[in-house]
Amino acid sequence: KPNMKLVVVSNRVATFNPDQPPTGGLAAALEPVVSRSGAVWMGSSGNLGDGNDRPVALAQCGEGHVARLDLPAAHYPGYYEGFANSMLWPAFHSLLDRVSSGAENHYESYREVNAFVGRAAFDLRDRDAFWVHDYHFLPLGADLHKLGIDRPIGFFLHTPWPAPDLIERVPNHRELMKSMLEYDLLGFQTNWDRNNFLACVHSHLGLESKNGIVISQGRQTRCQKFPIGIDPKQFAENAAVSLAEQNDFISSLQNKLNGAKLAIGVDRLDYTKGIDNRIEAFNQVVAAEPRSISLLQIAIPSRTQIAAYGEYERNVDSLVSRVNGEHGTDEWRPILYEKNSFTQAQLASLYRAAHVGVVTPLRDGMNLVAKEYVAAQDPNDPGVLVLSKFAGAAEDFKENEALLVDPTRPEEIATAISRAANMPREERIQRWRMMMDRLEAYTIHHWSADFVQELDKSRVTVPADH
Ligand code: UDP
Repeated sequence: KPNMKLVVVSNRVATFNPDQPPTGGLAAALEPVVSRSGAVWMGSSGNLGDGNDRPVALAQCGEGHVARLDLPAAHYPGYYEGFANSMLWPAFHSLLDRVSSGAENHYESYREVNAFVGRAAFDLRDRDAFWVHDYHFLPLGADLHKLGIDRPIGFFLHTPWPAPDLIERVPNHRELMKSMLEYDLLGFQTNWDRNNFLACVHSHLGLESKNGIVISQGRQTRCQKFPIGIDPKQFAENAAVSLAEQNDFISSLQNKLNGAKLAIGVDRLDYTKGIDNRIEAFNQVVAAEPRSISLLQIAIPSRTQIAAYGEYERNVDSLVSRVNGEHGTDEWRPILYEKNSFTQAQLASLYRAAHVGVVTPLRDGMNLVAKEYVAAQDPNDPGVLVLSKFAGAAEDFKENEALLVDPTRPEEIATAISRAANMPREERIQRWRMMMDRLEAYTIHHWSADFVQELDKSRVTVPADH
């Protein structure tokens, strides 16, 4: 088992503040990796600075450390709201109509912030290897090489990677892909993403690959699938704690349901998540069978500086009011709509209380909520997962396990929700068991160990006294 002193880089690092639970899959996934492995985790402090490089101050995180950087104020909005989230995010999710006009003008800022983080990471050049995360830092590996760092550098993309005709919409896509080929190891969530990337490299850079290996400029890049997982045991344990021990909202849930069954959706308020179609689907469910089931939709406002997000939030808000206005009564509401975030322990109880987990993104890298929902179920009386076939998780969970749906078709989602809510117990147990076995076979700990082990294969021989 490799024992590498790693540097992990991601835009956001965990807050370690119990009042601010992590609401992104990435920070939630990396926290156990860093706290157990003794890695240094570098990312944004949440504060902005003047762009002058400063020595990195480290704070303890379990056995590891966190290095928080004040990213340069002059370039941060262009990097974060601009290029990363108004260009790369929608393009990578194959939603080109969500690319903001003007987003292409922010490429320079994106490059500047990458170069800044590269210079900060240079302080850590004596560690064994670098593991860079996500679309914020596509060119960081190339920047580290420019500074003379010669350690193995790996990259994992948490989002999808789109088909060749879609990546063309991203300015400088060739330059970006070339810089990605400076990584020794490129990790993707699914085969679909990895194959798209290899197809893009072929059509736009004219490079062939063999068994996922691309050779360019004398360097070899291995492209592999590492489907991110969760800690299923932790969710199962938290789910077994009774609802009454949780917060007020959770303990009053049964009263609110007033005998109806419960479906649950947990998402950032992001247009990729398909919350609008889900609400529309739910409208059809309760129109056909009033008072039979309520949807608890937890929707955490996200990236609120970006116009497309504010617009989406208002749209979902008004859909929820419409459905509740049409079908709600004094005693019962079809949709319980929550914008406050919950800890993962609280979520575990809510997942378990729900007969149906509804996960319907238009496109998603993996979707950890789908996996968390499964892990939190009662083995003797599990709920049913309704899952978009365009979530990465659908490559793990097969047709006879989750109920797979087309997230653009509310009537299909509605049918699946009703089927899930009425599914006989034996069938629920059978489906759930297969999904739970998969979760236990490849947890978040397998995922990170697997990636690090593959990265270790790129390690150059170092002197014995190192
Ligand atoms: N989450 C949380 N509290 C909340 C809502 C969400 O801790 O109130 C967590 C959730 O448990 C999951 C993550 O946020 O681990 C969301 O990850 P996912 O992959 O589903 O979507 P992303 O937000 O990364 O696109």
